[in-house]
Amino acid sequence: MLAARMYGYHHPLELEDIKVPEIGPDDVLVRVGGAGMCRSDVQLIDGYFEGALHSTFPLTPGHEIAGLVMAIGDHVPASAELTIGDQVVVAAGWGDGICRQCRVGDEQLCEHGSWPGFGPPGGYAEFVPVPYRQLIRVQHRLKWEELAPLTDAGVTPYRAIKKLRAAGMLGPDRVMGVFGASGLGSYAVQYAKLLSSGATVVAFARNDEKLAIAKQRGADATINTRGKSLADIQDELYKLTGSRKLDAAIDCVGAEETIQTGIGLLHTSGAFVSVGLVGTKINIPLFPFTASELTYHGSFWANYNDLQEVLALAEKGKIQHTIRRIEFKDINENLELLRAGEIIGRAVIVFDVPWDAASAPPAKH
Ligand SMILES: [Zn+2]
Repeated sequence: MLAARMYGYHHPLELEDIKVPEIGPDDVLVRVGGAGMCRSDVQLIDGYFEGALHSTFPLTPGHEIAGLVMAIGDHVPASAELTIGDQVVVAAGWGDGICRQCRVGDEQLCEHGSWPGFGPPGGYAEFVPVPYRQLIRVQHRLKWEELAPLTDAGVTPYRAIKKLRAAGMLGPDRVMGVFGASGLGSYAVQYAKLLSSGATVVAFARNDEKLAIAKQRGADATINTRGKSLADIQDELYKLTGSRKLDAAIDCVGAEETIQTGIGLLHTSGAFVSVGLVGTKINIPLFPFTASELTYHGSFWANYNDLQEVLALAEKGKIQHTIRRIEFKDINENLELLRAGEIIGRAVIVFDVPWDAASAPPAKH
């Protein structure tokens, strides 16, 4: 099979022909139909996670995976309801199953966990072995390019906005900010509308083309922050919404600047949630943070149940996608475009695999 693999940091991926992996008794072999490309793949290559992950090479990246079930391990129980040819997505936090986080369902937070594409082989390959417990069967089949991104770009902001909702920060009289209007941001504005009971949603980014898409995806207003001071942005926010402040915000970028702007715009007792990881630290003034009783949430990826909820929305046609379909052979040049911030929406590698098994059954492995 073809796989795009890392042999070290700071080098392009090597596209090579390797053996189809063997599966263990609890695994399922998935034929990859779609593999989403994430900015964190660029960061993986650049060594951003080097201290945290202790990666060994070769490593096959790719953590947004959708595909077809091709082979099922001997110990996979019938109750998993998996059949050859099923369309599936891969939930990406693979925990040890026994710690407190795993037992409440947050396997992506497990201290002994792993994530496909960051250790175990990922989706930048024609086949990938996956523990059966990490698969979700898609009832109403979807195109690969609309399915694969749900496993990260399309679910990470969903979990984060649920935290703001659970904290009581959203409602019809509230203003919510979404920072970033690319891969995660174009999904975040939709969840902001879906989960906020009618809050006014404002998208912030530095690219007019991306902001135009955020508007199409449901943002009530957009602000291009490029070259503007906090006071400029407050003035513009006031003109657009009648408020100079945000009650809540999600940061899908994670640059020091977006964090400072987002926190700077928060109302007294407002809440902020970070999912983006472009920068390396949070640098905000302490006294206003404390005196205004602000809340800062971290939110990491999503758990299996979050992904099931998002999948249910997608199967009902309630999620719109902004996708750039790419061919596997073009992976390295698209990683460069991602690094440069030049991808609008999500780039997804689409393999030559029929997504609608009714029209063309998958080839036998
Ligand atoms: Zn665990």
